[in-house]
Amino acid sequence: MNKKPQLVPFQDYSTEEGRLNVVEVSKEIGFVVNRVYWLHKINASKSRGAHAHKELWQCFIAMAGSFTITLKTEKESYTFKLDQKSGALIVPPGYWRDLTQFSEDAVCAVLASHEYNESDYLRNYEDFMKWRSQKSDITKVPYLDFKRSYEELGNLLVIAGQKILSSGHYIMGPEVEKFEKNFADYCEIKHCLSVSNGLEAIELVLKAWGIGPGDEVIVAANSFVATALAVSNVGAKPVLVDNNESTFNLDPSLIEKAITKNTKAIALTHLYGQMADMYPIVEVAKAHKLKILEDAAQAHGAKYNGLNCGALGDAATFSFYPTKNLGAYGDGGAIITNDSSLAETISYLRNYGAKKKYHHDMLGTNSRLDEIQAAFLNLKLPLLDKWNQKRKELAQIYFSTLEDLPGIVLPQIPHGSEPVWHVFAIRVLDGKREPLMKHLDNSGVGYNIHYPVPIHEQLCYVDLNYKANDFPVAHSQSKELLSLPLDAYHSEEEIKFAAQKVRSFFN
Ligand SMILES: *Cc1c(COP(=O)(O)O)cnc(C)c1O
Repeated sequence: MNKKPQLVPFQDYSTEEGRLNVVEVSKEIGFVVNRVYWLHKINASKSRGAHAHKELWQCFIAMAGSFTITLKTEKESYTFKLDQKSGALIVPPGYWRDLTQFSEDAVCAVLASHEYNESDYLRNYEDFMKWRSQKSDITKVPYLDFKRSYEELGNLLVIAGQKILSSGHYIMGPEVEKFEKNFADYCEIKHCLSVSNGLEAIELVLKAWGIGPGDEVIVAANSFVATALAVSNVGAKPVLVDNNESTFNLDPSLIEKAITKNTKAIALTHLYGQMADMYPIVEVAKAHKLKILEDAAQAHGAKYNGLNCGALGDAATFSFYPTKNLGAYGDGGAIITNDSSLAETISYLRNYGAKKKYHHDMLGTNSRLDEIQAAFLNLKLPLLDKWNQKRKELAQIYFSTLEDLPGIVLPQIPHGSEPVWHVFAIRVLDGKREPLMKHLDNSGVGYNIHYPVPIHEQLCYVDLNYKANDFPVAHSQSKELLSLPLDAYHSEEEIKFAAQKVRSFFN
């Protein structure tokens, strides 16, 4: 959304019978209108306004007569004269306004984004200037701020949601169908089946392959617990393999040793937005006739030697949890595959195993994506590449600011890999992670740890009888890795600020 004041011309449908002017709320006003009020019979010698808003968006329209609005910040000043030909004036939050020169017949309509809220007002110019300077100087950088996607898409999301609410079609309707087609096209894979979440996406693939009790599936020791949990949930045993020290992904050279006669598949994770080293993994899988499932929940849009997730494996699974590179406003997930018979089986399994309504040929489950989430995802998918590109540019700021620091190791990007930076994790050496975290707390910089307890040390997996140093890399990374803020909605200034704070700790 353009955050400068803006005059939107009226669309004019005037005829001999009279004038008709229109401003589209969705495209031209941009924010969600929750309140309408108007000023009239204004004493022409008086001015109005003399305040600013912290969050409120407004649209001013001169319904009759004319008046002048001056908008100010510490750097900018705009003057607009509004009348029936001038168009509508969109005013973002954070501008001091004075309304003057009202004609006697002036009627000023205001469309506002929120209900009346006294604490949103700044009524003293000095307070306003103080508030502005705090706003424009970066003093803190959140790890993530979900509101920002609503600020960008606001009205478009509301309109997409409204369309579903009023359609009467809430499950397995046209938006789901459209998303599955669009996402399959985006991934350049034949089939996409949407499901309820990323965990069930993995489970459904394993189930469709007939993997269950007595079977083993190889899983990276450093991943979100979901990858291993999906294996356990179908009754099979997750067999862990350590990850590579510099890419954080499953180490292909360790797979062979973990294979037994019961091994059926490799469920690898493309961790933090970077794809695992697929060619050697495919080689081992071929030699031992193992299926490959790619857990791509953190890697929407990532590439490996020009290939997408799902191109080399037998299937890839995604999550659309709100934090992911492509996130819904609730839960969601998907499976992509070039295997038509696998796709068909999953299409039944996710919907009670029914090939035909009320005819259940297999023991299925309920794992469907809601129409409303599909509608949001259809809106967001065309923006994914732009957001991933922004993440790449922000990651570059960390690389250029931090590359010479001796106390940390930055993530390594092997030749041919194009990560999408779901997470920007650095290794903090010599036990300095805790003090660095304290420093970031004091500096207003958010962070996260992915993951503080590796899978083999989780209480839920004591029965696997692993020892902490069975997977030395995963173990040491649980002590060393620190995820810095990096999201498509961070500004370059914020990431520079965060990177400088990391630097200042070591200097
Ligand atoms: C988020 C995530 C999942 C699980 O996705 P949900 O939609 O939360 O079930 C699975 N694997 C990995 C690697 C993830 O990051």
